[in-house]
Amino acid sequence: MVARAARATDLADLDGAVSNCFACPRLVSWREEVARTKRAAFRDQEYWGRPVPGFGAPDARIAILGLAPAAHGGNRTGRIFTGDRSGDVLFAALHRAGLANQPTSVAVDDGLTLRETRIFAAVRCAPPDNKPTPVERDTCAPWLHREVTLIRPTLRVVVALGAFAWAAWWPLLRDVYGQRPPTPRPAFGHGAHWSGTSAPALLGCYHVSQQNTFTGRLTPTMLDDVFARAKRLAGVD
Ligand code: SF4
Repeated sequence: MVARAARATDLADLDGAVSNCFACPRLVSWREEVARTKRAAFRDQEYWGRPVPGFGAPDARIAILGLAPAAHGGNRTGRIFTGDRSGDVLFAALHRAGLANQPTSVAVDDGLTLRETRIFAAVRCAPPDNKPTPVERDTCAPWLHREVTLIRPTLRVVVALGAFAWAAWWPLLRDVYGQRPPTPRPAFGHGAHWSGTSAPALLGCYHVSQQNTFTGRLTPTMLDDVFARAKRLAGVD
């Protein structure tokens, strides 16, 4: 896995390679079963049923780091945060922030483009109950690390959506930036902010899951504040 990820010379190469990854037996089995059985509302659609690559600008100054694709969202459409309620909230906020050309993300051919922003997940396959195991998280990490390496020249800020993504940052900090992670690790929280010396700033944001957005734990205003702060830190107009 590490070798295959490390061989990717650009993002297109990486996207192609990760899309053909079969390293985690439990997740391969789950993503394919979901693609076979489908949700009733999508029964006439062909599911992607594979790992979901990152999406967005190759020269991004802002990265948004999520947990993993949703079974009937990214695992169905092939684009991260696309075709589910989490994506509806996220892309509406990115559009308000001027980082997306449209407020919706429904399919890979819907015309969506991002400005200065790239979105990816710590784990590239949809996990049962949205819970990858520690082994699956670690097995998938080289894909994330390589993607960040490829956009490292421009990347200034990473928005971690939730505690899982926040925790995925520290091994990346060591592997990609050669920095020893702080001890103890800074705690995740909405609005948490960590800055290293030569690494991008890390901002914590509650995940855009329905559990948070339907209950009001994460509001559109809170998301707007996070992206305004990310833009300021990244020097994006
Ligand atoms: S989770 Fe990552 S490492 Fe595991 S099969 Fe999917 S893409 Fe490969």
